[in-house]
Amino acid sequence: MKRIALLGATGSIGISTIDVVSRHPDLLCITAVIGYSRVQELASVAKQVGAKVAVIAQSSAYTDLCSALAGTGIEAQSGDAAIAEICSRDDVDIVLNALVGAAGVAPTLTALHHGKPVVLANKETLVCGGAFVTREAVKTNTAILPVDSEHSALFQALIGEPRARVKRLILTASGGPFRETPLEELRQITPEAALKHPTWKMGPKVTIDSSTLVNKGLELIEAKWLFQASSNELDVVVHPQSIVHSLVEYVDGSMKAQLSNPDMRIPIQFALSYPDRWEADYVPNDLPALRDLTFYAPDEARFPALRLAKQALDGSNGMAAVFNAADEIAVPEFLANRISYLGIPAVIEDAMTHFAGATAESLDELFDLDRNVRSWTHEQIIKRARNV
Ligand code: NAD
Ligand code: MG
Repeated sequence: MKRIALLGATGSIGISTIDVVSRHPDLLCITAVIGYSRVQELASVAKQVGAKVAVIAQSSAYTDLCSALAGTGIEAQSGDAAIAEICSRDDVDIVLNALVGAAGVAPTLTALHHGKPVVLANKETLVCGGAFVTREAVKTNTAILPVDSEHSALFQALIGEPRARVKRLILTASGGPFRETPLEELRQITPEAALKHPTWKMGPKVTIDSSTLVNKGLELIEAKWLFQASSNELDVVVHPQSIVHSLVEYVDGSMKAQLSNPDMRIPIQFALSYPDRWEADYVPNDLPALRDLTFYAPDEARFPALRLAKQALDGSNGMAAVFNAADEIAVPEFLANRISYLGIPAVIEDAMTHFAGATAESLDELFDLDRNVRSWTHEQIIKRARNV
């Protein structure tokens, strides 16, 4: 029985994870659930999975959580220290990190430090803290298992192959809802339109990131750390059907890919079952019904985020954190109608210009940089709004 601490239990990946766990009650259970601020949802998830403990990140919501769990026998906790404590408990074997944003870095490090394998959906962990996180994983000989569908596909296609014989890791991108939208029309995109992803149902931040291709940029950086890949080994191809989840090209010209219907329960389950594979009765794959699988190169003129991410990948060791922090500020500003859709890559580019050459040699420096980029970016957005 693998006992899981589920970070981000009320989110899209959290809910899919609960579904996977419910299908394998003899193999998986959830000891702890962690959410951000939605008390009632967290309490109901905690009761549903029979958790021993529920943690709400926002300390101001603690008394509400206590009331919501009164009489259930489930312990209520709050705050970052409680999240860290959960990631080191003896009755937790695996930490599944499905938080959003750089908030995922610290719990991942704590889990690895205590030798708990991390099943990682939170790509921002590796984008911001890749050097520190991978160092800790090596030091404690603890696994990081990818949930992101592209990285799960790469992980699967690499099994049994010598790493030295890999030529390219090719990440597929759905291209998002605007993959064919002309540049002039991108200016007018509303949050409602951007929140409609054609092939995946996800949380709001990753849905917007998918539409701008920031998500693919984050995933290139995530792949760099997961697979120790250099930027010339990494590539992106647009594949609108989201059936081929990524491909590995080998030195002999062979390519290995992983294909499945777009359903996050598949990579979640694989990460939890690895090195085994368990049965699953999800929607059957029906290749003839698909008819066409198409692939084409991304358009970096309409989607500058990809170019910026590559710049961050090749830049000084703080630039990926700059890219990420600026985006974490820009996305909610767009959702609140305070900046335009094309304002998102523009805000990221401004931050990358301002913080060019940024470095982070320690975790403290990394968290300082993250904070500085957020406050600078926020100020710039306010200044811009005043100038309009
Ligand atoms: P979501 O917005 O649906 O859920 C996020 C969860 O994290 C919620 O439970 C929220 O309460 C919690 N949370 C957010 N900030 C927190 C904080 N500071 N402290 C504690 N809890 C916090 O997001 P999601 O779509 O499930 O995505 C989660 C992660 O997985 C992201 O990094 C995303 O990029 C990645 N991912 C998601 C999908 C998907 O299909 N949803 C696919 C691939 C990768
Ligand atoms: Mg992905």
